[in-house]
Amino acid sequence: MNLSRNDDELKLVPEMTGGRVDYRPQNHRRILCIFPRYSRSFGTFHHAYPLMGTVRAFMPPQGILLVAAYLPPSWDVRLIDENVALATDADYAWADVVVTSGMHIQRNHINTINDIAHRHGKLTALGGPSVSGCPEYYPDIDILHLGELGDATDKMIEYFDLHGSERPEKQIIFQTEARLPLNEFPVPAYQHVKMQNYFLGSVQFSSGCPFRCEFCDIPELYGRNPRLKTPQQITRELDKMLESGNPGAVYFVDDNFIGNRRAVTELLPHLVDWQKVNGYPLQFACEATLNIAQSPKLLEMMRDAYFCTVFCGIETPEPEALQAIHKDQNLSMPILQAVAALNSFGMEVVSGIIIGFDTDTPETGDRILDFIRTSHIPTLTINLLHALPRTPLWRRLEAEGRLNHDENRESNVEFLMPYDEVVEMWRRTITQAYEPEFLYERFAYQMTHTYPNRVAVPNSPARLSRENILRGLRLMKNILWKVGIQGNYRDTFWKLAGPALKRAEIEQVIHVGVVGHHLINFAQECGRGEEAASFYAQRLREKEAAAKTPQPV
Ligand code: SF4
Repeated sequence: MNLSRNDDELKLVPEMTGGRVDYRPQNHRRILCIFPRYSRSFGTFHHAYPLMGTVRAFMPPQGILLVAAYLPPSWDVRLIDENVALATDADYAWADVVVTSGMHIQRNHINTINDIAHRHGKLTALGGPSVSGCPEYYPDIDILHLGELGDATDKMIEYFDLHGSERPEKQIIFQTEARLPLNEFPVPAYQHVKMQNYFLGSVQFSSGCPFRCEFCDIPELYGRNPRLKTPQQITRELDKMLESGNPGAVYFVDDNFIGNRRAVTELLPHLVDWQKVNGYPLQFACEATLNIAQSPKLLEMMRDAYFCTVFCGIETPEPEALQAIHKDQNLSMPILQAVAALNSFGMEVVSGIIIGFDTDTPETGDRILDFIRTSHIPTLTINLLHALPRTPLWRRLEAEGRLNHDENRESNVEFLMPYDEVVEMWRRTITQAYEPEFLYERFAYQMTHTYPNRVAVPNSPARLSRENILRGLRLMKNILWKVGIQGNYRDTFWKLAGPALKRAEIEQVIHVGVVGHHLINFAQECGRGEEAASFYAQRLREKEAAAKTPQPV
């Protein structure tokens, strides 16, 4: 572990000592918040949506829901997630100001929304991770909000109040100098979304991560000393989310759920109590470093709170590669032992895997497949290495002259191995990892070694609600029809599902059917060259965006 490296490169933004400013607006404003469409990727689980009826998008847009909740309560707010439905001309015409947010992969759609808003004569503002990292991507937007919620947000709101739709002569930048403490964050404005449109619900308990993996921008964007909400805030958010519908499962979108172990140890008993009082309406999932496996007490509490999935950035099974990328926290115990420990507490591990490290050899793909076989992990995001701005990796590659900005490439990294060999190794690894037989073997392992270790949840009114029963029936019908009868791997499906249904393991069959359907279909598209090799690769997504981008008025 190397926690002191490059400390001087981190400009930590302090928190606002006085907390939130109670701003009283002088004017009434209408704010249209738009979350831009994102392109499909492995992690959006879009092939599962047709099995799920009302689901249109992966998770509700936390950032823009938060901004919507932070705006003066007397203002009118309309929130549109373009992954669910596009904003219409009437929406733009209604608004004084159009606010948007997003990640780098949404860059094109963000700029398109800006064009449409300007054609309607509206003031535009952009915040969120992409503009905070690369403001130069957005030269035409009227107001840029850089950094997290804080004093910049207050200045931006004041500007909206005083100027309405009136556009400035040149771009204005508000940069957060003091962040709002997380424990003063409002409850995200869940009333503006329908939870049944989402594959998963999401909440955020903390922000930041104490580690410094070479490829990751989290420590520089959000700090290394995780900032926290209170347990009461989290349970209030869960209550409010359920008022907008029960998504069935909620993902803690924290950069690292155990970034502050003491805080999470204090949170978990509150989650356990909340589940007991409410009848265990939700499964929980989170993202955490693999050294979570060394804390059995924490894992026990997570099991009691009904955590069923943990995403761990394993990245590579090769120890020398982990050392080279400064991910030493994955070496604190043998990786297979860590995965088995999580499984023993009922938690299925989802793993991030990256191909293209400097230490990779022609054998790396086979080693990854061996690791998948022996770890029995069903779901792995297998991506090509991509250098993000504001990371140690970016700076190193820039100094070595190894950044390549050709958008026709699958990655901006000049690998040490020949480019074509690396891309081919990625394609072979992902397609073999998701061959139906291989994937279903791993799911079968989870059904016997992981799922039975979960807490026995009661048949409460919340779990047996009419809405839940209808959703379960619809899912089962779709899985049986689209996978069990029409699917090109139906024999594999029935080998697992037949005996499981006889044992009445209906929830497990639904989970395997839905997740497996996406993984298998996505990998088959990768094999045909129809999907990009990196979450950040733009090439195919640009084509798709061009085909689907709504036309400005
Ligand atoms: S990859 Fe994960 S563990 Fe590493 S710095 Fe980023 S958030 Fe932290």
